[in-house]
Amino acid sequence: MKKTGIVILILLICAMVVFFLARQKKPTIAVSPYPDGKNFAFSITDDPDFSKRWKIRQVYWFLDSIGIKTTMAVWVKKPERSNGVPDVAGDYFYGQTCENPKYLAFIKSMQQRGFEIALHTVSGGNDPRESTIEGYETFKTMFGHYPKINIMHAENLENIYWGGNVIENRLLRYLAAFLYPKTKLPFGGEDPDSPYYWGDVLKAKTKYVRLWGTEDINTLKFDPRMPYHNPKTPYVNYWFSFSDGYSPAIFSKMLSSENIQRLEKERGTCIAYTHFASGFARKDKTGKRVVDPEFKQRMTELSKHKEGWFVPVSTILDRLLAVKNLRLTANGSTLSVENQNRFDMDGVTLLMAPGAEFSIGNEVLRADDQGEIIIGTLKAGEVRNFEFLDGRLRVYELSEKRGVLEKYRILYERTKLIFKHRFSNREAS
Ligand SMILES: [Zn+2]
Repeated sequence: MKKTGIVILILLICAMVVFFLARQKKPTIAVSPYPDGKNFAFSITDDPDFSKRWKIRQVYWFLDSIGIKTTMAVWVKKPERSNGVPDVAGDYFYGQTCENPKYLAFIKSMQQRGFEIALHTVSGGNDPRESTIEGYETFKTMFGHYPKINIMHAENLENIYWGGNVIENRLLRYLAAFLYPKTKLPFGGEDPDSPYYWGDVLKAKTKYVRLWGTEDINTLKFDPRMPYHNPKTPYVNYWFSFSDGYSPAIFSKMLSSENIQRLEKERGTCIAYTHFASGFARKDKTGKRVVDPEFKQRMTELSKHKEGWFVPVSTILDRLLAVKNLRLTANGSTLSVENQNRFDMDGVTLLMAPGAEFSIGNEVLRADDQGEIIIGTLKAGEVRNFEFLDGRLRVYELSEKRGVLEKYRILYERTKLIFKHRFSNREAS
């Protein structure tokens, strides 16, 4: 009896090994997240904390000159209350706002040049519901649409699912409150009973909100499912993450030659988070403000990577989201590509081993030396079938569900940044 059990066990193990080997043997095909054979994407979100037009304009003119279009977050109005607690009315300055005509004219000029304008909450201070509603309309009047991205600012009490509320595990939430008391602040953006409630506005008018972050240049490797919706945080349509470029020194370190090369090799996305007002353009000996030389050098090197896709943050996030609705199915040697989006997708690119061949009708498509096959535009709802000329194949798909390990890794990496910034602030002051 015992012997039979052992034999069955061995047979089972052999069957599993054969099954996995057979799976391994099949070549794998995937969709590239980027259009037209691009290898990686890069963009920046720049928060307006302590910003002034003359502190940042050289940086933006430089970015424009090298063809890197990014996302600039603004405050539409001056704060009427403090930031965080104690929550008091008053006259505060956290940085220039769009109430300043020259600043607004500058921001609009960059919008015309192809830069994206996002919101950094309505002002630098706590914004009660009425203020946020009014600010959203002001944003629309100024820029022609509601903000597609809203980035929560520091300790604004209207921040949504903020502080301890971002941590799902109750025990960890207590621990965070003990180690980092700011997580206990009474953030109320998602609470209909709070004077700071505006979750309904966010859900109706804004698509993306920034949350987690990493030191790694490759934001997509850190958060492979972004942009994602979490049913437990229903007012946020989609969350996205960032790579830390907090200050000029941290930014340049993140953008080292090795890291740029790795970003390209990993076919990653970098959404750098920074504050351009914090010394990215400084006065030279003659008193003229010039772009930080190291930042300039790093960005120039990046811009020369012709396989890079340098577009504003929401353009990248829209693409990542659309690619999730591009369904690949393999049936024997037949590959179906279906665009389940309600819109056409341009520059659709498949990734496989270099030299892999497919036929469609009388045409033969061959993956180039980077393993890319550009199949071009897929109309909304279109299904296109290809025959793989070398036998059977397997489709690579990333599940939408985040595993426990990934959750805690993300929380751990974000916590590391909080302590790193506290340390670097102390050094800077
Ligand atoms: Zn801020």
